[in-house]
Amino acid sequence: MGFFDAPELNHHEQVLFAHDEETGLKAIIAIHNTSLGPALGGCRVWNYESEDAAVRDVLRLSEGMTYKSALAGLNLGGGKSVILGRVRDIGNEAAFRAFGRMVDSLGGRYVTAEDVNTTPRMMEWVHEETEYVAGLSPELGGSGDPSPFTAWGTFVGIKSAAHKAYGSDSLEGKTVAVQGLGHVGMYLVEHLSKAGAKVVVTDIKEDRIQEMLKIKNVTSVAPDVIYDTPMDIFAPCALGSIVNDDTIDRLKCQIIAGAANNVLADYDKHGKILLERGVLYAPDYAINAGGVINVYGELEGYNEKRSYDRVNHIYEILQDIFQLSQDKQIHTMDAADTLAEERIRKIGRLKQMRRSGKHLFSKI
Ligand code: NAD
Repeated sequence: MGFFDAPELNHHEQVLFAHDEETGLKAIIAIHNTSLGPALGGCRVWNYESEDAAVRDVLRLSEGMTYKSALAGLNLGGGKSVILGRVRDIGNEAAFRAFGRMVDSLGGRYVTAEDVNTTPRMMEWVHEETEYVAGLSPELGGSGDPSPFTAWGTFVGIKSAAHKAYGSDSLEGKTVAVQGLGHVGMYLVEHLSKAGAKVVVTDIKEDRIQEMLKIKNVTSVAPDVIYDTPMDIFAPCALGSIVNDDTIDRLKCQIIAGAANNVLADYDKHGKILLERGVLYAPDYAINAGGVINVYGELEGYNEKRSYDRVNHIYEILQDIFQLSQDKQIHTMDAADTLAEERIRKIGRLKQMRRSGKHLFSKI
């Protein structure tokens, strides 16, 4: 099968394979869709088992960004980039400046940012060569760490799910289990505690747990026990694929709503099971969009308050998803995809008309 027939290519607009002999840089930049705006998505460094695996990964991730930004109501398209290799071999100034030149060659169709295994320092090197990089440190006029915004969006999303499931978004007295106490999880635990929830936490790192136990209303369990813990709400904030054939029967909660990406191991199969059981699942890419919403602010002149206002909108976006899921009896991931596609169609069309100089209403 040729490259153009690969299923993952799925309507991608452009894929750039970039090689810099001098530094050994091999990078792939995938632009999935720019109907709503420039394709924004992070750059990850990964030692892939094959070049095919890298292509599949970047295509899958860039498509995901199109949906995420569209659903979040941003004027952004979807893109992503991967640099092939190990950080210790390729994580240097020369390689990242070469990468920056490649990003620059796309003239703003793709805007890069931090992702797995890339750091603010690396993005500063990229910035030496191109202005099309977001998520820089505040000293460079950027918006800094997106995690507090992701955590706030997740908190708002949990309240929205509670509103749907319980008829009230108060978390007072509700037991919320948080898996993963990293950049996002630790802020989330604080918000939940302040809201009066009983928070059960876990992490594979003991020091993280000890830190969180200092907060009011927080108790802990061992990592493998979390799925069997009595809880109202499960908030996965560590790994993907943790709702799977092994765990789905063990989870006795009414809501699953956390920041982790790709929570459902098989989104169609497990999404349908959750729907049948009446467990409300807040789609990952809807509830964890706080980070990209914040980064987006940089493209129009950063303002922290405006970012938080936009992140608060995750509440209503989830209400729309839950309502569509209920009305059409489709699982919530399906509902989220439907709403994202609808926005791309409607708003993308308006933007195209503006670009081509046509007017929406004739003067008769
Ligand atoms: P992080 O790496 O800072 O934290 C992850 C935490 O999970 C770590 O403390 C780690 O020890 C813990 N962990 C790993 N395996 C575990 C296990 N089996 N059981 C319990 N804990 C375990 O990551 P983060 O930035 O906090 O992101 C958390 C999740 O949210 C990730 O899936 C990430 O992709 C997603 N996400 C993050 C952001 C963001 O702004 N940081 C945005 C969107 C999505």
